[in-house]
Amino acid sequence: MNDQIFECRAAELDQDDPLAEFRGSFSIPAGQIYLDGNSLGAYQDAIHKRVQHTLKKEWGESLISSWNQAGWFDWPIQVGDKIAPLIGAGVGQVAVGDSTSVNLFKGLDALCQLQPGRRVILVQEKNFATDGYMAQALARVNPSLHVRYWRDEPLESVLDEQVACLLLSQVDYRTSERLDMSAVNRLAHSVGARVCWDLSHSTGAIPVDVLGTESDIAVGCTYKYLNGGPGAPAYIWVHPSLIEQIQPALPGWMGDARPFEFQVDYQPHPGIRRMVCGTPQILSLAALDAALDLWSEVDLAQIDAKRQSLMALFETALAEQLPSVFEPISPSDPARRGSHLSFSHPNAYPIVQALIDDGVVGDYRDPSYLRFGFAPLYLSHADVLESVSRLTRIMREERWRAPEFQVRKVVT
Ligand SMILES: *Cc1c(COP(=O)(O)O)cnc(C)c1O
Repeated sequence: MNDQIFECRAAELDQDDPLAEFRGSFSIPAGQIYLDGNSLGAYQDAIHKRVQHTLKKEWGESLISSWNQAGWFDWPIQVGDKIAPLIGAGVGQVAVGDSTSVNLFKGLDALCQLQPGRRVILVQEKNFATDGYMAQALARVNPSLHVRYWRDEPLESVLDEQVACLLLSQVDYRTSERLDMSAVNRLAHSVGARVCWDLSHSTGAIPVDVLGTESDIAVGCTYKYLNGGPGAPAYIWVHPSLIEQIQPALPGWMGDARPFEFQVDYQPHPGIRRMVCGTPQILSLAALDAALDLWSEVDLAQIDAKRQSLMALFETALAEQLPSVFEPISPSDPARRGSHLSFSHPNAYPIVQALIDDGVVGDYRDPSYLRFGFAPLYLSHADVLESVSRLTRIMREERWRAPEFQVRKVVT
């Protein structure tokens, strides 16, 4: 295919794009192509107004009465109810607050408690670092537990009746490889183990059905594809059949059944609210709540179809423009990957820096990966083609060799 054919194809796909209207809600700097929505989702102007209202009216004017009047107290669960349909959960089953890391600890601990006598937490070795750290920390405070790593062997071979709980990412943050939640849950449950899912790279990107796949607990991030803003609070979902059996690892007063009775002994709230620890992050919740408003109008099947279309165009155009320059790392089957693509190249770091300098924002991941996220709400097929053409220019002109692109920044 030559350039013109690609351009016509992209224009056609954009013309028929049922999600095109959402792009206008986002503010992306002119000339920039943002392929990093899998790390920090883009900003919507509606968020400003909402946070401003919470700051000036709710906090500034109503002060402490906003806990009742504005309903701040209920926000962790109300915002959770907006996330629920995106992951196939029911109303009142999702609590929002704390970071993903903290919720992973809470979720893992909860499942291990349900399995007295079992000693193993099974963790993917290549999982996002924080997941492994949380499992190690739980084993440290609960010395009857230890961490076992799942590497590349078949899951069956590391799964036995010693395993209390598995901690797995549905989508691998580096390679984009996707696990079949239903099949993994079935396998784990067949030996009596439970699964804590990390849905950070799935939520808002690919179809998720925590109830339909008979999951136990799921945790996820809201500042990636959900666009909740930097450090937006994470969420935790617990299967309704398990919630009443769980004594939270961090039994904060805000998860107590009657927080304003200030009892000596904690008594958990009957529902998911017990997973709320301390005072909710109201300003961040206001931003997240506003970011989630748009999702009630979004057809998730269209999100899935568009991400596949954007990714396929990127892969084909890249293979055509720069054949054999980058080694594809992500699975080629759309059903076996998330919404990002990774490519290996020995000079990945400076190439990503040169690309960012040229207005195409992706990121770099060790050991040698360029990673590009495809957020269907604000990317067009024309953007995707343009990003490939800028990458092609950088490679042909070897612009990435400039000394300023070689220096490692703190955040890559
Ligand atoms: C982004 C991400 C996290 C983030 O954890 P925080 O505690 O919110 O910083 C955790 N796990 C995975 C798999 C992620 O992709």
